[in-house]
Amino acid sequence: MPKFVLIGSGLAGGLLAAYLGRRGYDVDLYERRSDPREGNLVGGRSINLALSTRGIHALEQLGIADEVLKHAIPMRGRMIHPAEAAQPPIFIPYDRDPNKYINSIGRATLNTTVIEAAQRYPNVRVHFNHQCTGVDLDSAIADLIAPGVEAAVSAANQPVIRARGDAVIGVDGAFSAVRQSMQKRIKGFEYDESYLPHGYKELTIPPAPDGGSQMEKEALHIWPRKSFMMIALPNPDGSFTCTLFWEFEGPRSFATTKADEDIQRFFEEEFPDAVPLMPKLLEEFRNNPTGSLVTIRCAPWYYKDKVALVGDAAHAVVPFYGQGMNAAFEDCVVLDECLAAFPQDRQRAFAGYFDRRKDNADALADLAVENFVEMRDKTASKVFRTKKKLDHLLEGLLPGIYLPLYAMVTFSRIPYAEAARRARRQDRIVYATLIAALAILILAISVELFPFINR
Ligand code: FAD
Repeated sequence: MPKFVLIGSGLAGGLLAAYLGRRGYDVDLYERRSDPREGNLVGGRSINLALSTRGIHALEQLGIADEVLKHAIPMRGRMIHPAEAAQPPIFIPYDRDPNKYINSIGRATLNTTVIEAAQRYPNVRVHFNHQCTGVDLDSAIADLIAPGVEAAVSAANQPVIRARGDAVIGVDGAFSAVRQSMQKRIKGFEYDESYLPHGYKELTIPPAPDGGSQMEKEALHIWPRKSFMMIALPNPDGSFTCTLFWEFEGPRSFATTKADEDIQRFFEEEFPDAVPLMPKLLEEFRNNPTGSLVTIRCAPWYYKDKVALVGDAAHAVVPFYGQGMNAAFEDCVVLDECLAAFPQDRQRAFAGYFDRRKDNADALADLAVENFVEMRDKTASKVFRTKKKLDHLLEGLLPGIYLPLYAMVTFSRIPYAEAARRARRQDRIVYATLIAALAILILAISVELFPFINR
């Protein structure tokens, strides 16, 4: 069987190794960090994530969905916290069907589960503390550096381990070393990265003294404040991980809010109901890193039958649709299907995978940016709540015909690009119908009030 060298054992790397292992391929998976089971948490990314239908489907194919979901907390809707402390939060369900919800899951738990699923196949080997420095695309050889491991000496006098496969797959995240090698080697390789002017910082609401939760546990909490927002996802221990998405620069921003009294004032003004629940606010605000939010688009995602990109390495998106990891998991399913369809022609399998995924990744990138505006600004308004009610009403009246965009993205496996197109079409029909109905109503009223119009 051919051998795959995988670079990166984050969420998608572990899962892909399991998929390839199940097909009987020989797999060597190299990860620059140490083993997450040794307590080395995946730093620099969110602590917990929303797992939904696409991700669950990918886990189900390997029989590990239940193992993951037993650690998850259902989030049945958005809990919107108004700016005035006196006003209670408002709950907006994600779907008219209460059995449709998203799941808050710890990144470390999920990462460990997928790595262990891969390691159940004897043909999969995982090597931690190995950092890829580049890939020779034509020979499918990855150069790795690993402290303490005997190695050849490179031209630059750096000890290098060379991992040769029939193909190398870059599952090494948004700042992929494999992708960088493709950029250097492939003429006309398309690459685009764009950063939001906002950064993010994670903070904590600890459990209540009795071990319960200090807020409604089965919800995704949002403090929408027009140009910025804070969200909170529940953890199994009763705590919440809050994420503040805020401008890097500007009169009131990460750049200008450094002194304790300024931080305290900002939180008291903007998130008054959360402050009493955050005893380590100042310490965490000072010490926790501020992350950036990048969208990466590139093409192609493969080189001959030698190299391919999967997950954030191919298409990093901003986190506002809670879909980056779900999409990365869906990549693994599609790549697995393509390899099964063309077992003797890997280049065709890679090309098929790219064709099926690229438009969808681009559509998701746009949806994710648009949803930031919806979450931070529109969720606070009555119009948003009315639109959600109308969505749910139409879904009930026109089952299988009308599906809200959120439901298509989150609770279905309709390709992202098709979901976006269908939602635009639906919106046009709904708005046209509403306008027509309004026009008929106005006409009927005026005929009633001014019967002479008839004459
Ligand atoms: P990663 O998880 O980044 O894994 C890449 C791995 O490669 C890492 O382990 C890294 O150490 C390793 N690596 C990197 N470079 C090298 C190298 N040179 N050599 C060897 N190893 C290397 N998605 C959702 O679906 N739902 C959410 O709710 C959600 N929330 C998010 C919140 C935030 C704040 C952020 C930033 C992202 C969120 N995402 C969410 C997106 C999600 O985190 C990513 O889409 C997902 O992690 C992608 O998985 P991946 O395996 O492709 O990349």
